[in-house]
Amino acid sequence: MVKILAYPHQQRLRLEIHGAVQGVGFRPFIYRLATDLALTGWVINDTQGVFIEVEGTSPHLTRFLERLPTEKPPQSIIHSLETTWLEWCGFDKFEIRHSDSHGPKTVLVLPDIATCADCLAEIFDPRNRRYHYPFTNCTNCGPRFTIIEALPYDRPNSSMRHFVMCAACQTEYENPLDRRFHAQPNACPTCGPQLKVEGCSNALVSSLNALRDGKIVAVKGLGGFHLMVDATNTEAVARLRDRKPRRDKPLAIMARDLAQARTLCQISPQAETMLTSAQSPILLLPRQPNAHLADNVAPRNANIGLMLPYTPLHHLLLRGVNFPIVATSGNLTDEPICIDEQEAPQRLGHVADLFLVHNRPIVRHGDDSVAWLVMDKPQLLRRARGYAPLPILFPRPLPTILAVGAHLKNSVALSVGQHIFISQHIGDLETAEAMTAFERVIADFLQLYESTPIAIAHDMHPDYLSTRWAKEQRINPESPSLIPVQHHHAHLAACLADNGIEGTALGVTWDGTGYGTDGTIWGGEFLLGDAADFKRVAHLRPFRLPGGDIAIKEPRRVALALLWELYGESALAQEDLAPVRAFRPAERRLLAQMLNKGFNSPITSSVGRLFDGVAALIGLPQQVSFEGQAAMDLEFIADRTISDAYAITIMQGDTLLLDWQPLLESILADLRQKVEPAIISARFHNALVEAIVAVAQAVGEPRVALTGGCFQNRRLVERAAQRLNQVGHEVLLHHQVPPNDGGISLGQVVVAAAQLKKI
Ligand code: ZN
Ligand code: ZN
Ligand code: FE
Repeated sequence: MVKILAYPHQQRLRLEIHGAVQGVGFRPFIYRLATDLALTGWVINDTQGVFIEVEGTSPHLTRFLERLPTEKPPQSIIHSLETTWLEWCGFDKFEIRHSDSHGPKTVLVLPDIATCADCLAEIFDPRNRRYHYPFTNCTNCGPRFTIIEALPYDRPNSSMRHFVMCAACQTEYENPLDRRFHAQPNACPTCGPQLKVEGCSNALVSSLNALRDGKIVAVKGLGGFHLMVDATNTEAVARLRDRKPRRDKPLAIMARDLAQARTLCQISPQAETMLTSAQSPILLLPRQPNAHLADNVAPRNANIGLMLPYTPLHHLLLRGVNFPIVATSGNLTDEPICIDEQEAPQRLGHVADLFLVHNRPIVRHGDDSVAWLVMDKPQLLRRARGYAPLPILFPRPLPTILAVGAHLKNSVALSVGQHIFISQHIGDLETAEAMTAFERVIADFLQLYESTPIAIAHDMHPDYLSTRWAKEQRINPESPSLIPVQHHHAHLAACLADNGIEGTALGVTWDGTGYGTDGTIWGGEFLLGDAADFKRVAHLRPFRLPGGDIAIKEPRRVALALLWELYGESALAQEDLAPVRAFRPAERRLLAQMLNKGFNSPITSSVGRLFDGVAALIGLPQQVSFEGQAAMDLEFIADRTISDAYAITIMQGDTLLLDWQPLLESILADLRQKVEPAIISARFHNALVEAIVAVAQAVGEPRVALTGGCFQNRRLVERAAQRLNQVGHEVLLHHQVPPNDGGISLGQVVVAAAQLKKI
């Protein structure tokens, strides 16, 4: 039967769009597009997405469909777009209808977005009413995740509800053709948040003066406090390190603009794109040889962690001084970032000389994200501002699972349908403050997405505080079930999910520490498997860690333990070796007893620790202040021109065993031949790469995933990827979540989902 329409050439089109489509100027964009094409109808937001009905001639409707995805606002992400053709019903105009806040909350919460070019121009235009206003924003930029209290994203559901818009702001807010139409944090000097420094009339000027004087300024920013200090002033940087305390760990730098950044770092076109992106992460970049920076900013480090200003306040600060500044998280070592100006003086009072605060409440914390380029592609090392809480899209819907992550670099994850939401970086669960932040983030996620998990996935380590927390939730039979996930299996599953792969891979999962299924500490593992299951097909030859966790900060202990494996008691007499000399004779005897009896000396197959041991052997620092420091030192001294490698024997048993004995013997021989540490380091790295290739070839799995904290080493990850490609393997690297333990929560969700399917 032929359908007869009132006007055969007029039609109505209904669209349902899901993704990151709120708080990015999506509705005004639709309004402009529709009116441009002389279409009538409406657009509305609800808790799941954007709904549109447009009417007009079919050629115009077709144009509308073509232009929508190509001209959409820059910060929006369309996950799905469904269309239905309907009968014409005669709308007389196009209108933006009021949001509907009922129904399940599946619309994506947007991350905070760096200041856009339009807003930046206004801030530095003396004729503009927002001249020098530090809280300028629009629908294309500004705070989102850190001010949202509930969904849908509207001003009354954000911490901007405390500020009533003035007439000028209200007019912008209501005009569909204005850049600030429904920009929820819209504000100006008349009606919006203000800066404050206690006892000073001009907060910005006082802060700039303090920075010029080499003072430490605590600055309340977007997702928390920064501690800022002149990055060219060695004495000032030393004071910051002393007070925080932060002995050796590199400090992040904020540069005024790209031009200043180029004087500090080498910036490739890809790096420029990342630095100037809406995410605006801290990017690890090769240091310029003549960079004008205090040498204690990133001691012995080949890289500088650099970011550009990402809020109007940062732009004002950086343009007010003519030097780059250190901008490190406003916390004490191991604690989460401070977000509250009431709490800041208590927590940071002995660190900062001045507090630059403002009265826009921060709803949840958000550290700066850290990224780098591996094989010319971006990889996150810390996933927070700009990225969280955007989800990883899974190929199919998952049951609702909460994953509580690992112990260090903790993040949590929650699956809702096809989305796996990963929290912002929480940190090391070592302090009461960190545990409070961990619990707050979990409660926040469950509330934000109105979810009740059916299962909680946790690490197998019985002593992790996250594991204990998970077990405490098991209060009655109706509580979510608990699913323990092996640490390195989670790394492998995270890497697969990060790449959208549901199949099998050989996971080269190398890190510092992870609880193994046999109760020993794993960390040099080759796991063959998928999300559902794995087989440990190869691993590093185990050794003992005298003193357990103490050995993480004392590479000399690892070196001694390695020597002990080869030479027993006589290892302690080899006084020509730096790690032996680093212990007094009495200490050596104590260590010998521990190693002899295995007392307080857990067994490990950790590659991270092998790095530490080798670093100590060749005379790098015998004691360090953070995990990974020795490995970084070892990486940065390596001679790039050396291509030969030490031998690592691969022994066939139940599993393949990577025996480091020949490697260690060669290192000792080279040391006694006075071979340069730079050459020894290069040969060591090359040996590990060749071991990876040999195992991959022996196992025969075409797809190899490189994951775990050890792959934050450029020399290791890039050489391994290149060599694996050369011999015909497909290599999976991380992109959306970090290769370190920050990615564990994603892996835990995916493994737990696979386990639930099996039951
Ligand atoms: Zn803007
Ligand atoms: Zn205003
Ligand atoms: Fe790990």
